[in-house]
Amino acid sequence: MFDLNNLIRQNVKGLKPYSSARDEYVSDGSEMIFLDANENPFQNGVNRYPDPQQRSLKSVLAQQKGIRQENILLGNGSDEVLDLLFRTFCEPNADNIITLPPTYGMYKVLADINVVENREVLLMDNFQPDVVSILKNLDTSTKMVFLCNPNNPTGNSFHISKIEKLLSSFKGLVVIDEAYIDFSSDESWVSKLSEHPNLVVTQTLSKAYGMAGIRLGICIASEEIISVLNKIKPPYNVNELTQQRAMERVLNREEINKEVENILEERRVLEQTLKTIQFVEQVYPTDANFILARVDDASLRYGQLLEKGIVIRNRTTQPLCENTLRFTVGTHKENEFLIKALKELP
Ligand SMILES: *Cc1c(COP(=O)(O)O)cnc(C)c1O
Repeated sequence: MFDLNNLIRQNVKGLKPYSSARDEYVSDGSEMIFLDANENPFQNGVNRYPDPQQRSLKSVLAQQKGIRQENILLGNGSDEVLDLLFRTFCEPNADNIITLPPTYGMYKVLADINVVENREVLLMDNFQPDVVSILKNLDTSTKMVFLCNPNNPTGNSFHISKIEKLLSSFKGLVVIDEAYIDFSSDESWVSKLSEHPNLVVTQTLSKAYGMAGIRLGICIASEEIISVLNKIKPPYNVNELTQQRAMERVLNREEINKEVENILEERRVLEQTLKTIQFVEQVYPTDANFILARVDDASLRYGQLLEKGIVIRNRTTQPLCENTLRFTVGTHKENEFLIKALKELP
């Protein structure tokens, strides 16, 4: 059976977290004189330390996602959230994780930084997880399996049955990175939280929400998992300006939905057009705001577009991605410029 206690690093179990001034006295909204945190008392909007638990923002996010605030941890981008997972659960030089290349590069970088073995189990030719091989590669020191869903750079979503199988067979954490979930017609795994104690979902404001610049990552998991992560997160990891701008944005669902609709329509046009370009050999189905395409010579085409002032991503060195290019869907004008350039290439 799943037992969270078997996964947490020994030093984290015994850790007593730093207690900040803002943790010790929580304001109830009444007028108080704050002489507890050595701040400059002259008001300028950001002279006070931010709420270390980001309560206002979490309450809105919890309501929108149909969960409780206690199921949420916020971080300085997904990257911080993912790093916290490593530092909470993986013993350096002892534990391992499993990733499924071709996928997001940060999992491996974070594993290397934290001296955690990264066991790579390639996706199958259809870019679906090879569940049998994943289960064969696990051992008692495997703490996490990372599933990027929809996957970057391939763009596809993994079959629900494969994810279910992993969640029910593996006694470590199954981390589902949903950075692109708002572009997908599949439902978020957040709705399955109560069924799977080993499920961790990460999301971000960097993609569909249009806020890559403010750095806000979201971790959603059981209350038990979130409370352990809370023990080791830096007290003020989400700054006041980020909390304010994120709040304004998440309350403006209409604008976000409108932009996502627009990006999805533009994606459809770009997919269709890419299929007509003479040097494009295959356009992969996508559930994200980018399209992976196989071309005759990825490095040649990448360089040609660069000369025309267009920067895309050359993924040719990634496993299973030989001669592929990744196109992010831009504005209508940007996509038209790209299409014109593609048609003109010699
Ligand atoms: C872009 C992206 C993220 C976002 O990371 P942030 O640190 O939140 O900006 C996370 N995961 C994947 C797979 C991504 O492609």
